[in-house]
Amino acid sequence: MVVQAQSESFDLILVGTGFASSFFLKKYLEKKEQPVKVLVLERGVKFTHRERLHFKQTDDTYNGISWKSARKAIINETPEKEWVFDPNFGGSSNCWTGCTPRFMPSDFKLKSTYGVGEDWPLSYTDLETYYEEAEEIMSVSGPDATPFPKKGKYPLPPHQLSSVDQILQKEYGNLYISQPTARASQAVGKRAACCSSAVCNLCPVNAKFTIENTLAYLYEKADIEVLLGAKVYGLDLSGNVARSVLYEIDGKRKEAHGEIIALGANAIFNAHILLNSGDANKNTGRGLCEQAGVYVYLHYDGLENVGGGSVIPANGFMMYDGGHRKDRAACLIEHHNLPYIRNERGKWRMLSKFKFVYEDIPDDGNKVMPSDDLFLPKVNFEGHSSYTLRAIDQLSTDIEKFFSVLPVEKVIKDSYIQKTEAHICSTTRMSKNPDEGVVDANLIHHQYRNLLVLGSGVYPTISAANPTLTLSALSLRAADHL
Ligand SMILES: Cc1cc2nc3c(=O)[nH]c(=O)nc-3n(C[C@H](O)[C@H](O)[C@H](O)COP(=O)(O)OP(=O)(O)OC[C@H]3O[C@@H](n4cnc5c(N)ncnc54)[C@H](O)[C@@H]3O)c2cc1C
Ligand code: SF4
Repeated sequence: MVVQAQSESFDLILVGTGFASSFFLKKYLEKKEQPVKVLVLERGVKFTHRERLHFKQTDDTYNGISWKSARKAIINETPEKEWVFDPNFGGSSNCWTGCTPRFMPSDFKLKSTYGVGEDWPLSYTDLETYYEEAEEIMSVSGPDATPFPKKGKYPLPPHQLSSVDQILQKEYGNLYISQPTARASQAVGKRAACCSSAVCNLCPVNAKFTIENTLAYLYEKADIEVLLGAKVYGLDLSGNVARSVLYEIDGKRKEAHGEIIALGANAIFNAHILLNSGDANKNTGRGLCEQAGVYVYLHYDGLENVGGGSVIPANGFMMYDGGHRKDRAACLIEHHNLPYIRNERGKWRMLSKFKFVYEDIPDDGNKVMPSDDLFLPKVNFEGHSSYTLRAIDQLSTDIEKFFSVLPVEKVIKDSYIQKTEAHICSTTRMSKNPDEGVVDANLIHHQYRNLLVLGSGVYPTISAANPTLTLSALSLRAADHL
């Protein structure tokens, strides 16, 4: 219900200011030859990096900004599974860790390669130039040799490997690499070089890419109107057109008309806004998904784990791609470099912490739903798929197989899956036709052809890799193909 309508019209209305929206806006503005009128609706507030540091110094619950806001922003029917994000200007770029591996080519064609999940309606090759562009914008640091095809060098040199990483890299070559990351290995723009302080939730030296430190200028342009504190709750969908965006600001309900409307509110809120609006696509909200992570500590006999240029210096791809994906999920290995020690005299540094991150397959039973409150989505997650759980069951055997090159004295494996990987995916999946998904390969809604749905909600399958580089590349591509 529109309490107070304002009959303003815009060329583009963009919802949210995170990765999905900002990368889209950047390309959209570059492509426009005529002046354009853009309205940006952002539910949260804008904090500078300095303000965030100040909060952190004065409020020892700061780390909870994203967790606490996220908990209040949804009705979580299955709270044993957490969903975390920062609903403010810049979205979760404020609190992300900055890990930016690309997906593998097979991630885009899981069904035709391994008979599992779905194929994406676009290929790795279709996205390759946009991957390069997104890496350039984020000034990603990374190695020359990678397991996925890559034409040029990364913008910044790779972070240093630790002593343990060096042994694994010698054994596995380009399947064990310095992690591609948006934590800068050298000072760049407003960002200092990463110094491995390992509190990336709020980087003290502003080393990781954030929207605030690199793309905030987009929102300061004269033809862009940004409304902070503007909470979008629906769209006016008539026939096959999205006519306007409905939002609340300062307690008042308003409406703005857009030629093009792009939702970049993340996989929970994009789906919720569509459901509130009466989107009849049966897939909207279904398939909520993210990876499953398990921590393992290795204790070494005589090997000190030292060095390592960042909080996660390396990624292992030995358990990622291959025939096993017919039966069980891909796994991406992260080597963590937090300051922790082994509590045994003389052996303080003889340990490693690895996280094994498994892909999952979207399941329609895991979903976002409307609630009685227009602003609160209901979220239900029944559990990870048997495809993922089978791979996790295999973990001890895989460790024996892939880590025998290290002098392992003891393996301590968590008996539980982490509550969240903070990667929300697959509620508005991409597909060739509307029976199987919500948007097409250009992220345009199958029915409402002036409506784009951005972000990792569009992933038909989610891979084991972190999602944000790929969703940023998809936003660049979507704006390029408008
Ligand atoms: C702690 C943490 C660590 C992470 N680390 C990594 C990592 O290392 N690598 C990686 O690839 N990914 C990581 N992620 C995930 C990554 O942050 C997300 O994939 C990414 O932020 C998604 O971008 P987005 O723009 O789609 O959504 P978001 O970043 O969530 O942005 C959504 C935007 O929309 C706004 N919004 C939401 N609802 C509304 C509404 N109703 N009306 C108006 N505005 C609205 C929000 O305020 C926000 O500005 C991490 C996430 C977290 C929380
Ligand atoms: S490891 Fe430290 S310096 Fe590097 S990005 Fe994280 S917090 Fe910043």
